[in-house]
Amino acid sequence: MSTEYDYIVVGAGTAGCVVASRLAECPGTRVLLLEAGGSDRTVWIQLPIGYGRTFFDSRVNWMYDTDPVPGLDGRSSYWPRGKAIGGSGSINAMVHVRGQPHDFDDWRDLGNPGWGWQDVLPFFIKAEDSEIVEPGWRGQGGPQHVSDISGKVHPLCHRFIAAGQSLGLPASRDFNGSRGEGLGIFQITTRNGRRASTANEYLRPAIRRGGIDLQTKAHATRILFEGRRAVGIEYLQHGVLKTARARGEVVLCGGSIASPQLLQLSGVGDGAHLSGLGIEAVAHLPGVGTNLQDHLAVSYFYGSAVPTLNDELGPLLGKVRAALNYAWNRGGPLSMSVNQAGGFVRGTPEAERVNLQLYFSPVSYTRTPLSERRLANPDPFSAFLLSFNACRPTSRGWLKLVSADPMAHPQIQPNYLATEHDIAEARQGIAVMQRIAAAAPLSDVITGRLVPDAAVVSADEWLDDFRARADTVYHPTSTCMMGPGPATAVVDHRLRVHGIDSLRVADASIFPTVTSGNTNAPTVMVGEKAADLIGADA
Ligand SMILES: Cc1cc2nc3c(=O)[nH]c(=O)nc-3n(C[C@H](O)[C@H](O)[C@H](O)COP(=O)(O)OP(=O)(O)OC[C@H]3O[C@@H](n4cnc5c(N)ncnc54)[C@H](O)[C@@H]3O)c2cc1C
Repeated sequence: MSTEYDYIVVGAGTAGCVVASRLAECPGTRVLLLEAGGSDRTVWIQLPIGYGRTFFDSRVNWMYDTDPVPGLDGRSSYWPRGKAIGGSGSINAMVHVRGQPHDFDDWRDLGNPGWGWQDVLPFFIKAEDSEIVEPGWRGQGGPQHVSDISGKVHPLCHRFIAAGQSLGLPASRDFNGSRGEGLGIFQITTRNGRRASTANEYLRPAIRRGGIDLQTKAHATRILFEGRRAVGIEYLQHGVLKTARARGEVVLCGGSIASPQLLQLSGVGDGAHLSGLGIEAVAHLPGVGTNLQDHLAVSYFYGSAVPTLNDELGPLLGKVRAALNYAWNRGGPLSMSVNQAGGFVRGTPEAERVNLQLYFSPVSYTRTPLSERRLANPDPFSAFLLSFNACRPTSRGWLKLVSADPMAHPQIQPNYLATEHDIAEARQGIAVMQRIAAAAPLSDVITGRLVPDAAVVSADEWLDDFRARADTVYHPTSTCMMGPGPATAVVDHRLRVHGIDSLRVADASIFPTVTSGNTNAPTVMVGEKAADLIGADA
């Protein structure tokens, strides 16, 4: 059975919902949107704090494990990715950060005209319905609601910001505005206390308008080609292999793991590797699956003299109170991200740009194994955590198929901490965290360091500790890098796959370099710009 559409979009994640919705705005256009996962209409997806539950739920999560990473003492890293309508945007921590303007100027300077800050700013603005207003910077009336939670966060967040200010670090009212450097409160993608994924914000209204055929539990297995032109998709749905044809274009929005995986399964990748797996090469593009980048973070935990979310959410009574607060007011800790405050700072005074992202969370989980962490099981005492990651790591990883089976997970090697540069920035981050923790008024409430213990910090064991405990902040990007030539890049500056007609990639995999902050907002921007480019070329 085959059906014909104008466009086929693969993956209803953060970017895919944006691309499909915008393409369907053109009257008469028919878009097929294929999603391997199922519904996102579950309480744990829609309730912001449900993040803690979906983190290890295979019904809505691909649950990848990487290869052992040499830089992490041979530990492998657990990588959750959303497998439901809304994709990773349905299971993420909802922090809304566009990135630093120079991130996008870097993209342009790597040979991608049209992707400098002034070029992409209109798309960030078009996407947004921001509670914080700054003309020329922030958008109002767009689909993506962005909440300002500065009046609702835990009071300890303000101690964290004040401690930074006492050290001369600026305070930032808006990380997405004209003064993005410094410490402040994160904005989050919620609307009336409910998760505001692109599925809720873009896709549902678009489906009501018409033009989109959303197929769930529809796992794309192969791109169909006629010569070097993409003409459709083969997909598996409820055990039946189906095909759909695209009159216009096929757009891959499977994210940083699935988009390069699907390209390789379809014969687009390193020719020698593919032929070794018995896959006939359609185009030799050795960059597919390479250039993998991610943010690597470590947390430090502190005992607190004042109650934290541990006290609010640990005891049964606290949970009931929080649930009632949410039910009555759509407020309280259940309506928020665990990441409430943080910032963007320079690790050394000489640094030309901010190079560290900090997180402050008024919660801790030092006594529960990773698989039970997040707000499900906070420590039974008052404590909080400080965390950081380098903004622009220079280590590069890769992912590739291990077999021609489209259902098999690919092999992923993030290759964290492979460069002296990244090790040096880890050291800087630890020093900044230690200084903030030692500064009043945050130091006034610290009863003791929990993890790592004081001996590790004072001795020169910080790197051993970092290798033993650091882990992903779930921002893999750049595995289908945008760039000018097919030797290393996968798509050109119009997101067209090099050497192939009618095939684009539009998701976090096209980032030439990972942005300095969380990756959801720039992925929405990529979706907006992709739809604009496709519309213009049509
Ligand atoms: C636990 C977690 C926490 C995070 N926290 C934050 C945060 O606080 N702030 C932030 O900015 N970013 C955060 N991120 C990152 C952010 O969510 C991602 O960068 C963003 O969602 C990536 O969007 P995408 O469109 O590239 O991919 P996804 O949103 O992952 O979308 C890909 C979609 O394609 C589908 N798919 C895959 N393979 C196939 C196939 N073969 N056929 C059909 N469909 C397929 C997937 O099921 C998925 O729905 C977090 C991510 C995770 C996992």
